[in-house]
Amino acid sequence: MSQYSRNAHNANSGLVVGIEPIRDYPGHPLAGIELQRKWETLAYEAGGSTYEAPAQTVRDFLAGQASSALGEVTPSYKPGVQPSDLTRCLPDFVIEALREAIPVFGRQIRDYDHPDVLLTGIESRTSSPVRITRGSDFQSINTAHLYPAGEGAGYAGGILSAAVDGIKVAEAVALSILGSNLIPGSHPHSD
Ligand SMILES: Cc1cc2nc3c(=O)[nH]c(=O)nc-3n(C[C@H](O)[C@H](O)[C@H](O)COP(=O)(O)OP(=O)(O)OC[C@H]3O[C@@H](n4cnc5c(N)ncnc54)[C@H](O)[C@@H]3O)c2cc1C
Repeated sequence: MSQYSRNAHNANSGLVVGIEPIRDYPGHPLAGIELQRKWETLAYEAGGSTYEAPAQTVRDFLAGQASSALGEVTPSYKPGVQPSDLTRCLPDFVIEALREAIPVFGRQIRDYDHPDVLLTGIESRTSSPVRITRGSDFQSINTAHLYPAGEGAGYAGGILSAAVDGIKVAEAVALSILGSNLIPGSHPHSD
């Protein structure tokens, strides 16, 4: 996130790697929460178990070695960061995707992959790990007229995807009202 004043000395961005429920956390409906807890616990430990965040320079992350010191980037994360090895607290497929993507981004945005850039984190809360299942009419499959929507229901992971899901659900609600008004004996609204 950006602070309101937008005057921090670093530029920040988040790197998001897609996770597939069937491939990456198969099993029961709360398996996604278990996945979050597992990697968050490992990140806490990699940060020294003090609520500081584990951090690794891009140089070390790409070279596959733990960071023992920071470079010329001064971290802004509070309460602080611990030089560490992020591969201790990220799944292999995420590490692989990040190692492939960072140099590609660096070719599009100058210094995005500067060796001293600090990878800080992990971000484990981009999307809800639980989804309320809905049918093709967008209603909950076991509770008619309930329209699960947006991030909390498991259908969005950001501002834009939440907005788009909201539009889709609003259209489904409108369609259902229209449909019921077309049924003989129903009472269409005059407005
Ligand atoms: C710190 C932070 C930074 C983020 N940065 C980004 C970013 O840079 N880019 C990006 O794309 N996304 C970002 N996100 C994610 C993005 O904000 C959310 O994905 C998006 O706002 C979800 O929209 P939504 O409408 O599904 O849910 P929300 O925006 O959470 O809306 C849910 C609404 O329901 C209301 N509500 C809850 N319970 C009840 C109830 N019982 N009765 C009535 N109302 C209720 C809540 O008060 C709230 O207004 C960020 C999120 C956070 C927390």
